[in-house]
Amino acid sequence: MKELIFLEPIFKERIWGGNRLATEFGYNIPNNKTGEAWVISAHKNGDCQVKNGTYKGLKLSQLWQQYPKIFNSSSKNAEFPLMVKIIDAADDLSVQVHPNDEFAKTHENDLGKEECWYILDAEPNAEIIYGHTAKNKDELDSMIDNNQWNKLLVNTSAQKGDFFNVPTGTVHAIKKGLLILEVQQSSDTTYRLYDYDRRDDKGDLRELHLDKAKQVINVPHDNDTQQCKVIKSNNLITHMRLLQNNYFSVELIRNTSTNIINKPNQYWLASVINGNGQINNQMVRKGDSFIIQSSTKELRFSGNIELIITYEVS
Ligand code: ZN
Repeated sequence: MKELIFLEPIFKERIWGGNRLATEFGYNIPNNKTGEAWVISAHKNGDCQVKNGTYKGLKLSQLWQQYPKIFNSSSKNAEFPLMVKIIDAADDLSVQVHPNDEFAKTHENDLGKEECWYILDAEPNAEIIYGHTAKNKDELDSMIDNNQWNKLLVNTSAQKGDFFNVPTGTVHAIKKGLLILEVQQSSDTTYRLYDYDRRDDKGDLRELHLDKAKQVINVPHDNDTQQCKVIKSNNLITHMRLLQNNYFSVELIRNTSTNIINKPNQYWLASVINGNGQINNQMVRKGDSFIIQSSTKELRFSGNIELIITYEVS
């Protein structure tokens, strides 16, 4: 049985960040404006380090390069293709959009960014911005140029346990009072469309990227209709697929007893979002993120554990 490979999160200060990454997950955050924990990432802007065991101290990018057997990846990417973050929105995030692979490669030398959100916690009446009302490109450009944000942007309520798919080209914003687990392609490219005319500590506005945003926004907005799929559900375990796109699958497992799940010969990424217990005789607890090696054929669970699993789709 191959060991689970635990990773150290990397923290990012954001003007909209807070302190819930410490209060909810026990992370040792640098300050009370911490917006993001990159819990699984090999991106050049934040490359997680292995916390334990045989590979302790290696960066995830090094593990990926030096030990391909751990991953048995079908990915055509030379670089580790996925990223998992936990986001604490103490205030609204900017209204933004992400490019697809082709656009990102040409303009940013980065991957595109398909992303999706599992809502870990939500204040009452919390909302997201998801989509827009423009029917064609001219209408979109005109509403943006004339700052008609209330007319253009669509607000939707978000509650604990909700799941949102945010494909490239989707206008979106995470708003105040949400704690979110985000799964995405390994990309750090965001085109900011609107930032509520908000100023930072120094009195500066954050940069907008209107031209590129206009080029990549889907018009009209394409509402995602993918349904969750139950893989297994009884009173001891719930296992469901939240999403499968061209890059990754995201699954939720809620385990309340001793259970075994079979796994194919590929690596899985796991993030524990509630509870604690054991997986293959290793302790896991809320806030832990780890790699389950490709050659591990089954997962033996015990305890009350809720986790999000992500894996590559070839
Ligand atoms: Zn985004």
